[in-house]
Amino acid sequence: MQLKELFSTIDPNKFTSKFSAEERCLEFLANEKWDKGFVCKKCGHTNYCKGKTHFSRRCTRCKSDESATAHTPFHGCKIPITIAFQMAYQICIQPDISSYRLAEEHDIRQMTCWKLKKKISECLTQNPD
Ligand SMILES: [Zn+2]
Repeated sequence: MQLKELFSTIDPNKFTSKFSAEERCLEFLANEKWDKGFVCKKCGHTNYCKGKTHFSRRCTRCKSDESATAHTPFHGCKIPITIAFQMAYQICIQPDISSYRLAEEHDIRQMTCWKLKKKISECLTQNPD
């Protein structure tokens, strides 16, 4: 997932309103992740039905359910995804932003911000696959 490219197409003034709801963030991730179509990570099947959570997809063969956040830096995130999205955006446009500043701005524990920042930064420096 090329977060930097994705986020760079979004107008900074519209970012917060665009991703103000959890559903919009999940929808965005799902659209991006499966833009070339669904392929089950477990068995390679390409047919799916709706999964358990918002925008998740369930393989119709092996029944494995993949959430919209799985295999993205937002997986297992302990803070609301809307805030995680905002932080990711800030990190994209300002990679040297400190986790202390993010913590203060969003009123989130610094260690949580540090962990998210690490994941986002790894994603930003990854080579395209
Ligand atoms: Zn499957």
